[in-house]
Amino acid sequence: MRPEILNPLFAEVEVLKGVGPQVSKQLKKLGITRVVDLLYHLPTGVIERLKVPAANASLLGRTIILEVTPFETRETRSGRGPTRVFASDGDQNTISLIFFNNPGWAKRSLPIGERRIVSGKLEAYGEEWQVIHPDIAEPGQGPQPAVREPVYPLTEGLTNRRLGELTAAAVERAPELVEWIEPGLMSREGWRQWRTSVAEAHREPGSDTARRRLAYDEIFANQLALSLLRQSSRRRRTVPLPGTGGITARLDLPYQLTDAQRRVVGEIHGDMAQSVPMLRLLQGDVGSGKTLVALLAMLAAVESGAQAALLAPTEILARQHHATLLKQLDSIGVRVAILTGREKGRPRDSVLMGLADGSIDILVGTHAIFQEKVAYRNLGLAVIDEQHRFGVSQRLLLSAKAERPPHLLVMTATPIPRTLTLTQYGEMDVSRIDEMPPGRSPIETRVISEEKLADVIDGLGRHIAGGGQAYWVCPLVEESEKSDAAAAEERARILELRFGTHRVGLVHGRMKGPDKDAVMARFAAKELAVLVATTVIEVGVDVPNATLMIVEGAERFGLAQLHQLRGRVGRGSGKSTCLLVRGQTLTEVGRARLALMRETSDGFRIAEEDLRLRGPGEILGTKQSGEIGFRVASAEDVAQLAPIASSDAQLLLERDGGLDGPRGQAARTCLYLFERDQAVGLIRSG
Ligand code: ADP
Ligand code: MG
Repeated sequence: MRPEILNPLFAEVEVLKGVGPQVSKQLKKLGITRVVDLLYHLPTGVIERLKVPAANASLLGRTIILEVTPFETRETRSGRGPTRVFASDGDQNTISLIFFNNPGWAKRSLPIGERRIVSGKLEAYGEEWQVIHPDIAEPGQGPQPAVREPVYPLTEGLTNRRLGELTAAAVERAPELVEWIEPGLMSREGWRQWRTSVAEAHREPGSDTARRRLAYDEIFANQLALSLLRQSSRRRRTVPLPGTGGITARLDLPYQLTDAQRRVVGEIHGDMAQSVPMLRLLQGDVGSGKTLVALLAMLAAVESGAQAALLAPTEILARQHHATLLKQLDSIGVRVAILTGREKGRPRDSVLMGLADGSIDILVGTHAIFQEKVAYRNLGLAVIDEQHRFGVSQRLLLSAKAERPPHLLVMTATPIPRTLTLTQYGEMDVSRIDEMPPGRSPIETRVISEEKLADVIDGLGRHIAGGGQAYWVCPLVEESEKSDAAAAEERARILELRFGTHRVGLVHGRMKGPDKDAVMARFAAKELAVLVATTVIEVGVDVPNATLMIVEGAERFGLAQLHQLRGRVGRGSGKSTCLLVRGQTLTEVGRARLALMRETSDGFRIAEEDLRLRGPGEILGTKQSGEIGFRVASAEDVAQLAPIASSDAQLLLERDGGLDGPRGQAARTCLYLFERDQAVGLIRSG
């Protein structure tokens, strides 16, 4: 149970003065529903305002605070243009105050002949000096414009000042908490206690010390949760699955394992032979041959009389895995089945029955395979492919549900820096496939400006005229699948006009599973020459004859994502090409990022460099911090603080495994503060 002292923070925002249904709806758009969310809605910068007696040309472009007296109001006749209120400053200069909406409010707030304090950016418009949408205050009454004001991420309808007031009210409710950070670390970093730091992070966004402490808290909660998960998993017992080699010997492989595959298979088999459940992360770049490793792990389970399940993130991938496994296993008597949201009625029932009576050895599918209603006779091994949509809490559920937890193998091709491995998979042992199967020719990557799109399309024409196939990936227009789909449809239409309807296929996230599969199948069968797609093809899809990839709007993708996309080509023996089509304007960093893609195909190097390129001191936008799973900590914080937080968490658990002492109790509070409630349930009792 959450400690009572945190209750005021977990109350709904409506408890704050002045937060009614409308404000609460606006806050919700920022992901803020409770007081604690406001508390951690930290400013990203600060506005400095200059208090001046009068305007002058040297102040143009600056944000100023100025006392003025309005003398005339002018509205456009149609009512559609801006409302202008003319006012004179202390030197009899005329400043025009511009409002694009709500003329009534503008006139009421700036009555003719009365002094008002306005603040905003002073700009020149022809001969005129103007301030657009100034903040307005009555001298000596109500809140006055601040010389320094924190800047918050905003949403439509909520002003910065309002958010400032609301966060201040949230800070007001913050209790004093017993310290969970090691005193040594506190003094080394110059950190103050939690409540002080929260207040300071809002008030003094320019100095980073307070915010960094809060970031540490978040990372510490994450590391402690993962350590608890590991600790509790190590205490559990399960059935060892040593394998016999009997079935594996009958496997007909067209090639030899690479040394790296051999090594990681050894590590995995070693774990599975123990009665402590395996918790292993398998990292291997796109195309490094993880599927085969998974297969050999699953066969060891089957040889030991247990079942295995393989979870894929998408329907397309589940079907592809199923087809691959059937081809290899059906003839040697291993029974493989598939279960996704699409299997319904009779076929579904028969799969469920086969799982329950043990006549199915290996089940492949999407999330459906770990649903409540799916009962295995003897699930010994769970393999999770392309992990990023299967988070810590899902891992927790999977291991907690079973009386005898299955051995767990998580496979990912997302090249992430080591420190991020720590925060995302910190409870796991890690195996890495650091070698590609032989015979791959490197992918040539080129960056092309979108001005040359016509040339790109000509090139595509020559490529498919020679029997080649190609992917065309469309840009992420907005963060909505709908508009992405529209862009992809548009592009497909244009390419169809040029190359013929029957040669161009389209897949996007808004299509139904069977429709997507049908298009993919036609592409794999070489009926289609061009596959236009959104990022749904990002993971796993394997069509070796497709040796050309075109990515439109390349600068808008994350580098890890581009790397994944590029991994769709270069799968056969033919030479492959990846064209990154970029927009006409590109930032310095954008240029460097694309240059990096051209330079290297090493996913881990790309990940590390991308982190570095984002640059020190840059506070990540919500999207990017969301990517790494934190709301306060930036990628840079994680890089610096995760190793420290990790060893702090482990040390604490070694000294006080039940988290009973004062620091242990405080650490529990920290877990609750960051809503790692499930992890608290894992604390060893007694
Ligand atoms: P990923 O790690 O991206 O999942 P896959 O398992 O899909 O990679 O393997 C990519 C391709 O490499 C497949 O076509 C697979 O058959 C092939 N492959 C895997 N292992 C080897 C190997 N040892 N030698 C040659 N080809 C291999
Ligand atoms: Mg794969």
